[in-house]
Amino acid sequence: MKLLVIEDEVKLAEYLRKGLTEEGYVVDVAHNGVDGLHLAMEADYDLLVLDGMLPGIDGLGLLAALRLSKQTPVLMLTARIRVKGLQGGADDYLVKPFAFSELVARIQVLLRRARPARDAEGATVLGLSDLEMDLLRRKATRAGRRLDLTAKEFTLLALLLRRQGEVLSRTEIAE
Ligand code: CA
Repeated sequence: MKLLVIEDEVKLAEYLRKGLTEEGYVVDVAHNGVDGLHLAMEADYDLLVLDGMLPGIDGLGLLAALRLSKQTPVLMLTARIRVKGLQGGADDYLVKPFAFSELVARIQVLLRRARPARDAEGATVLGLSDLEMDLLRRKATRAGRRLDLTAKEFTLLALLLRRQGEVLSRTEIAE
């Protein structure tokens, strides 16, 4: 998963880059709105962490320009309590100062929402078409409606989703 952090406070940007890299993400950083927008348009990021107050183009301006052609999920960082970010097309926002763990949690939610079917081995959410399974919460939904499954049915469905396209033997299914 590739993230772009657009933040002009160099210390904070570096802190985020380091922390998110340790979380297993590939992280690029831009320190102003112009560079940030350029990178966001040129490369394919899975998510943007976007500061609201930036030199050059500010966060909302950048977002408006980005949304003309890209739907990359955007998590806004803002110093203000009253947030205009969501109206501006951000998917979520955090008010500074925030806990790093909170940032990571929000990023995970946005990434999961964006691509439920993309998680592979070790995934906690499996998906196929309109079917989604949350393995942590042991919840299965189809087109947003919860499916009522027994524990055994749940396990079997998860197995089938994990091994999509493969022929499974009777023994594998019985396990
Ligand atoms: Ca700033």
